[in-house]
Amino acid sequence: MGEWIDFAVLKAAVRMEMLLEGYGVRLRRRVGMHLRGRCPLPQHGSRESSESFIVNTSKNVWICHSQSCVAARRGAPGGNVLDLVALMENCSVVEAARRLRSRFRVRSPGPPGEEGTGFKKKEGASPRGVVCPAQESNPPLGFVLGPLDHRHPYLRQRGIDGQTAECFQAGFYGGVGLMHERVVMAIHNPRGQLVAYVGRAIDGREPRYKFPLGFQKSLELFNLHRALRSKSPQVIVVEGFFDCMRVHQADFPSVVALMGASLSRAQQQLLLEHFEQVVLMLDGDETGRRASRRIAAQLGRQMTLRVVEVPEGQQPDQLPAMEVRRLVEGTSRW
Ligand SMILES: [Zn+2]
Repeated sequence: MGEWIDFAVLKAAVRMEMLLEGYGVRLRRRVGMHLRGRCPLPQHGSRESSESFIVNTSKNVWICHSQSCVAARRGAPGGNVLDLVALMENCSVVEAARRLRSRFRVRSPGPPGEEGTGFKKKEGASPRGVVCPAQESNPPLGFVLGPLDHRHPYLRQRGIDGQTAECFQAGFYGGVGLMHERVVMAIHNPRGQLVAYVGRAIDGREPRYKFPLGFQKSLELFNLHRALRSKSPQVIVVEGFFDCMRVHQADFPSVVALMGASLSRAQQQLLLEHFEQVVLMLDGDETGRRASRRIAAQLGRQMTLRVVEVPEGQQPDQLPAMEVRRLVEGTSRW
């Protein structure tokens, strides 16, 4: 009975705030137990800016007061977490339950009558569903952000052309939510499933890079699924998203980013699994140099590795394509 899903447990275990956060939605106003903001439903109807969407955090339910909203049109203007997922992701309530269960790792106690479930409910007993944020994989995202401006001036200023931006599903997002007015980039797992967006602030806002709640970047290598398509035994490893896009643009499709200056155990495993040779191309600063030595020690015994010396004070995303090529194809020995 692998398909048993306890709706009551799910509805109690998954909080509306967590769910909305996962969609990148932040409701602006809080009054007592109520949160209010613009409706996040994709088929909300007219793009009016009124704050028609209200969440009751104590009852863990939502309602949209707009007559033109899909919620009103289907006859019920609100609902619980399952109804919201069904509308956000255009799926059935049962499918919504399945997705929620895997996304939030909610464990159901099993069907009635199974050993040890003891379905008698005690007065005031807490729901038995357990939400564990720690995961061994990042579950696929159930939606796509859009529209994105692939030709935003910020991207151009960082030397990313429209074609590269489109390929990386990178662009300025003007919509509501967590990624509001950030340049976002799509992050995929090795199988090519979209698992998150990262949002780069372009107006000095903190944090500079924003990830959705629960996303574990140490489990992924940015751009790995595309690098794998090139079937190259060699991969270039860089620190950041923009380094990765610029190196890709310089005609090296087999490039991945650590999304930081350290190599996690999971990332190390992915490199060992898929490649024979690594070209390490971290930033030309103290952090990058130190990280290079550490990672070289981590990987050097297990695969062929070469360290590219990026000029002092520079990062791969600041180098002209010709310079990237010269450094990568340089004369250094394996
Ligand atoms: Zn609505």
